[in-house]
Amino acid sequence: MSAVEFNCSGCGKKLFDYDPVTHFRRYKSPVKECPKCGRKYADPRCHEIALEGLPKDIFSVKAHIFLIVLGAIVLYWEATLIGKSELSGIQWLMPGVIVLIGVILLVGGMVEVISILTGIKKKKYDRLTEESKERLKDREYAKTLYGLGYYIPQEYM
Ligand SMILES: [Zn+2]
Repeated sequence: MSAVEFNCSGCGKKLFDYDPVTHFRRYKSPVKECPKCGRKYADPRCHEIALEGLPKDIFSVKAHIFLIVLGAIVLYWEATLIGKSELSGIQWLMPGVIVLIGVILLVGGMVEVISILTGIKKKKYDRLTEESKERLKDREYAKTLYGLGYYIPQEYM
């Protein structure tokens, strides 16, 4: 995990820091404008589904059960450690953070599995895909993305 600095290719202004591997993927238009010089750029944190597709694990129940199991292991391991030691005051900070991570993995994984099984997640991404297609119907927009290095299917050109 290491953050990368993203700078404007026009004026060099630092626009943001982000981690290419772990950064949360946003599904919306990546086209943005540098606030300093106005040059358009593609925000690597944002993804146009109609062009880039979705990560293959996004609707995988198995991948999310893995998160639940991981969360449970973290909590179990941390509970045994806490049980063995006598912690006071600030010493609770690290175990507290680890327990929080375990709970987030566990609960987050469960929420994802439920939303996959009930079809809620599919619906959400279907809507996002439609929005992405709608944006691309605008030829100017498709051209802008093409200029920024995206591959644009013939139907949008
Ligand atoms: Zn700039």
